[in-house]
Amino acid sequence: MRYISTRGTAPVLQFDEVLLAGLARDGGLYVPETWPQFTADDIKSFRTMNYADVAFAVIKPFVAGTVDDAALKTILDDTYAGFNHAAVAPLKQLGANDWMMELFHGPTLAFKDYALQVVGRLFDHVLAKRGKRITIVGATSGDTGSAAIEACRDRDNVDIFILHPAGRVSEVQRRQMTTVIADNVHNLAVDGSFDDCQDLVKALFNDHAFRDEIGLSAVNSINWARIMCQIAYYFWAGVQLGAPDREVSFSVPSGNFGNVYAGYAALQMGLPIKQFVVGSNSNDILARFFDKGVMKMDGVHPTISPSMDIQVSSNFERLLFDLYDRDGAAIVELMTEFRKTGIMEMSQGRFAKARELFDGYRLDDDQTRAAILDVYQKTGELVDPHSVIGIAAGRACNRDHTVPMIALATAHPAKFPDAVKQASGIYPDLPERLSDLYDRPEKLEPMTNDAAALMAHVRKNRRAA
Ligand SMILES: *Cc1c(COP(=O)(O)O)cnc(C)c1O
Repeated sequence: MRYISTRGTAPVLQFDEVLLAGLARDGGLYVPETWPQFTADDIKSFRTMNYADVAFAVIKPFVAGTVDDAALKTILDDTYAGFNHAAVAPLKQLGANDWMMELFHGPTLAFKDYALQVVGRLFDHVLAKRGKRITIVGATSGDTGSAAIEACRDRDNVDIFILHPAGRVSEVQRRQMTTVIADNVHNLAVDGSFDDCQDLVKALFNDHAFRDEIGLSAVNSINWARIMCQIAYYFWAGVQLGAPDREVSFSVPSGNFGNVYAGYAALQMGLPIKQFVVGSNSNDILARFFDKGVMKMDGVHPTISPSMDIQVSSNFERLLFDLYDRDGAAIVELMTEFRKTGIMEMSQGRFAKARELFDGYRLDDDQTRAAILDVYQKTGELVDPHSVIGIAAGRACNRDHTVPMIALATAHPAKFPDAVKQASGIYPDLPERLSDLYDRPEKLEPMTNDAAALMAHVRKNRRAA
């Protein structure tokens, strides 16, 4: 499988190079040159497989030529054996044709584990083959750092440094990061804000000599490998509910558009999907887009669903690429205009094409809390503020009640206990395997808000080659 950039001019790459590159050199995002195709019989054969085997079948064509079958199989078996539910991604029925898929049974209780746990292992595999090492440096406002840390812990060829603003992340969030005691994991509590943390990381990436010296890398949400792993659970859910003989629909609480784009990829590969509902919080750039066909930047508003607090949905460019018939020059023009004016307007024809599949829906914090209470009272399920946006948006926009609507539950309620308690009156307990989180020892170091000090720290503490 070869990969091309959405902006048309970066080199065409193989999977291993795309994995390590992240963003394309022309500023675009990598996508597969063609979509692998599954026949109805292929999809039917998934019905009797376990989750890891479905993931193997789905991912195999994307890594063909760079990761051999035996290695991929081991990576996937090993990854999902570490999840905390026998079904890995269990479906729960909330009403007639109203379902949710729980994607929070990984080590950090959010859906990002389903991809990052694989990506960490793929990094190690590809780096070992090349005799290379990388150093990952990233900033977190609390929520995404732990998934990256859990993905990289105990990897031989990866060191990871995660910066968080000291005293400004919740205790659950901090402890999910700092209780990972491993030689290659470094938590740095920065004397500053989240923006300061991001600026420090940027300063390191902009120092090209330093970047090359330590093999600086990131595990950001535009990495193709993450999307690829997420495609698997769309097939998994689809076949549980009757695909390919029956259509299914999905409702996805969205931020960077990575999760729902993976569903779009599943459709391109042959899964019969009727509709996608894109759920937003008050950071509703996507919901507004699907309303009018105009993408307009706005500031970032803090909400009770912080993992969806985004200004721009970076993965949307991948969908745009298809909507513009894979014309890289057209994407360059659109994105340049968007960066300059903060507005991107699509032709009515292309917008109509997008709307055949996608609906957008927004819930503010009050509506989100009301929806948590409503789901709890009607079904007994306690759901987190991200997941409930998927559930409520799916119900609000459902176009065909004869088709199962599957909402993706992206985080465990115990990950956002205060918001859940406020909405429902019930404080959600951590799952058994994390129940001693508050008693575990922590490992973190203070860091001044200074790029030179950070560079010195990374140099000194990363493991030697
Ligand atoms: C990251 C995240 C999202 C948003 O997913 P995108 O792929 O960025 O659209 C939603 N819910 C939770 C809990 C997340 O961690």
